[in-house]
Amino acid sequence: MTYKRILLKLSGESLAAGAGSGIDSDRLAAYVAQIKEAAALGIQIGIVVGGGNIFRGVAGAAKGFDRVTGDQMGMLATVINSLAIRSALEDAGQPARVLTAIGMYPIGEPYSNRRAIEALEKGEVVIMSCGTGSPYFTTDTGSALRAIEICADVMLKGTRVDGVYTADPEKDPSATKFDRISYAEVMERGLKVMDLTATALCKENAMPIRVFDMDTPGNLLRLLKGESIGTLVY
Ligand code: UDP
Repeated sequence: MTYKRILLKLSGESLAAGAGSGIDSDRLAAYVAQIKEAAALGIQIGIVVGGGNIFRGVAGAAKGFDRVTGDQMGMLATVINSLAIRSALEDAGQPARVLTAIGMYPIGEPYSNRRAIEALEKGEVVIMSCGTGSPYFTTDTGSALRAIEICADVMLKGTRVDGVYTADPEKDPSATKFDRISYAEVMERGLKVMDLTATALCKENAMPIRVFDMDTPGNLLRLLKGESIGTLVY
């Protein structure tokens, strides 16, 4: 197996499937099935999920909330998604726990990298919520940070697009896909793989990122078994 420990970033928006907001139970079940298959291979799995299907700080600021409050609401949204994923994993027979970067016991246990690693080593899927725990950041940055902290071998960014393209393939049909691309080139070209903070953090800490289409069932397993799907950012 290529990887022993992974950090999987799921976007909140993907959890809503086509609906735009809320949690789609079929999409949740499909994600959980893929995560469970991966855990059955003995791979340690940490998860960071976004909150865009429920609330985004920037959108809140546009509606008149101050940015910090909006971001706090966004971070709480990630906790809701994390609880949904934990519950679905447990229903499927996969032990899992939610850690929170902001103290809110007993909804989740306070995050520390040691606590996360201990649980991973016991075979639990560890869902690290609240992003970084600070406003003005994103869950992409949260997942880069957690990937580095838990010493993951790779950060897997599950999206609805099958990799990194020269332009947004949903808008520009002539866009072509990269099989591999360096962090520097992502930044130079201004590609929206992840926000700059997340990309810079991965670059500084040599954390490889693989961007892949998580919405196609079986893709996570194929990737973990060594198939070259998606785009590697190195
Ligand atoms: N957020 C934050 N700090 C973090 C991570 C997230 O303040 O470290 C807030 C921010 O308001 C963001 C929201 O949580 O808009 C939801 O996260 P994100 O937009 O990254 O979710 P996704 O787009 O992946 O669904």
